Amino acid sequence: MLACTQAQDRGQEYVGFATLPNQLHRKSVKKGFDFTLMVAGESGLGKSTLIDSLFLTDLYKERTLPDAQERVTKTLKITRHGVEIEERGVRVKLTVVDTPGFGDAIDNSDCWKPIVAYIDEQFEQFFQDESGLNRKNIQDNRVHCLLYFLSPLGHGEDQRTLFHRLRPLDIKFMKAVHEKVNIIPVIAKADALTPSEVQRAKQKIREEIQEHGIEVYRFPETDSDEEEEFKRLYNELMDSIPFAVIGSRSMVETKGKQVRGRFYPWGVAEVENAHHCDFDKLRTVLIQTHLHDLKEVTQDVHYENYRAHCLQRQGAEPERAPGSSRTNRESESGLSMDTLPVSETAKLIEEKERELRQMQEMLQKMQQQMQQNPGEQSDPL
Ligand code: GDP
Repeated sequence: MLACTQAQDRGQEYVGFATLPNQLHRKSVKKGFDFTLMVAGESGLGKSTLIDSLFLTDLYKERTLPDAQERVTKTLKITRHGVEIEERGVRVKLTVVDTPGFGDAIDNSDCWKPIVAYIDEQFEQFFQDESGLNRKNIQDNRVHCLLYFLSPLGHGEDQRTLFHRLRPLDIKFMKAVHEKVNIIPVIAKADALTPSEVQRAKQKIREEIQEHGIEVYRFPETDSDEEEEFKRLYNELMDSIPFAVIGSRSMVETKGKQVRGRFYPWGVAEVENAHHCDFDKLRTVLIQTHLHDLKEVTQDVHYENYRAHCLQRQGAEPERAPGSSRTNRESESGLSMDTLPVSETAKLIEEKERELRQMQEMLQKMQQQMQQNPGEQSDPL
């Protein structure tokens, strides 16, 4: 499935993942990165076109589009496409997870649930693999970033005053996943809006995101002693959220140059022109500057949250299952995790983690023994 290799060289301006600290870089050159990008949003907002424009691929060539009748009854599907990108010798095994059917049915009240389940399943798989024997070679399929597509036309009874209200589904969905994945919201088909409309839409969307307590991905803040260039980049990126994007699979001619864009009788909307849209910024974030941070936040924040919940659940399970034997501490004391004070819960989690570590060490020792004496059978646990 890993199909296409894209080499990008941006010369002087280069601030990509190949400039990672040396040690990290050496490791990455050898192993490559796994990176999973999920895309979601209503059909027809240009998701597949944007993905193909970002990674210069044709990931969707075998896609068949459902007709209107099918869309009404359709349920959400999850599809995965792989592509390998390379930048100055650093390979990224990129998986694009698409969610066709999102928001297409008449009743969309639960349409986002399979997405939440998918994200959780990847965490669960990682959690299981981490406790297994082959921990060094875990395939990381966790979703590191979600590009969420918002309609350029917004939603609201009065298009003039309420231009750009998020739809209830946008809010519900982002709230359901914001503690599990790094959300980067984008305004799709930005060529449908004038520059001042884009600015108004961005402002309104930012306000609504804040009003509803939705946490979208935050670019790591720069330290006060960091270079001016980084500070400028940080401010520029923060001010651009949600990124207003244009996608196109075709090259068109404008001012004697071939550019990726959309041709209109009055001119060309250029995908890679910073005056026309934020496509370049989004690509820089995804391919160059923030790939590593997106992975780190997934590991340190979202996955750690999931793991803590898992350990908590494991500890509390016997209490919840009526009739099951009481084997753990809180069951013996007649308390469930939910009723324990925070410090007690933390202690229990620590204890469970210690047990898990001990088991992992034991398993590792057994594995080493088996490698040293391949003929001998070790005792079962
Ligand atoms: P998806 O269903 O979200 O994957 O949407 P597609 O990528 O299949 O695009 C649906 C239609 O919108 C196609 O006709 C595209 O050519 C068109 N389209 C894609 N991106 C843009 C864009 O940025 N601006 C405009 N005006 N049309 C676009």
